[in-house]
Amino acid sequence: MIEFEHVSKRYPERGDALKDLTFRLEAGEMAFLTGHSGAGKSTLLKLIGLLERPSRGSVRVGDDDLARLPRRRIPAHRRRIGMVFQDHRLLAERSVFDNVALPLVTAGMTRDDIGKRVRAALDQVGLLKLERALPLTLSSGEQQRVGIARAVVGRPEVILADEPTGNLDPELSQEIFRLFERFHQLGVSLLIATHDLDLIQSLGHRTLVLKQGRLVADAIPRPAAPEP
Ligand code: ADP
Ligand code: ADP
Repeated sequence: MIEFEHVSKRYPERGDALKDLTFRLEAGEMAFLTGHSGAGKSTLLKLIGLLERPSRGSVRVGDDDLARLPRRRIPAHRRRIGMVFQDHRLLAERSVFDNVALPLVTAGMTRDDIGKRVRAALDQVGLLKLERALPLTLSSGEQQRVGIARAVVGRPEVILADEPTGNLDPELSQEIFRLFERFHQLGVSLLIATHDLDLIQSLGHRTLVLKQGRLVADAIPRPAAPEP
């Protein structure tokens, strides 16, 4: 589904954010991406979403080599991907419904279809009753669930999340991760950047570790061995 081959990313003035990265994420796979702040996690996600371009190497998503994707196909590419951000990036003056509807409005879908899709997405994250609410009246966990509904409303093949639980306490974080696991069960591919090592450990999914832009580990963490 997602394939990086010898990918490097250099920001002018700042040096290499990613160095010679090679890995693949299969369709339907759920994986975590971790590493210290500045390790290159956001940059990696941005390359997949075509928000940045690699300085070297190739990034493929499905059958598309992103370097060769014609400009006119970039919007369709972005629609294959649902993005979730730490600060959820909701529009404060718009209702929950309107926030979630935004990607479909942009894609030119009809009002009827938008209504159905938005309610299906809100139902999936357990927020159907709050469609008229404004984001600031919601708890931080609810706000993030709206962010997730917006990410999945277009039925993306891939969900990319950048520190989605960075502002949440452990209990709410767990709830969000459960939600991601449900999309995993529906067959969506997920790559989730997170610092939340305890949760990663407890969930047991593949974990890619970045260190100063290099991939230094790629394994499924084993639960800690019981005390002898
Ligand atoms: P992480 O998400 O793991 O914290 P980032 O991908 O945000 O890491 O950053 C990796 C490196 O690239 C850091 O040194 C950061 O300062 C640098 N960087 C990230 N974005 C930019 C940018 N737009 N311009 C210049 N340097 C950047
Ligand atoms: P409708 O096709 O009537 O709009 P729904 O939106 O409720 O129906 O979804 C139809 C099916 O697609 C359901 O089984 C639902 O769980 C599944 N589904 C919804 N969102 C996604 C998604 N992002 N990725 C994969 N399957 C999804």
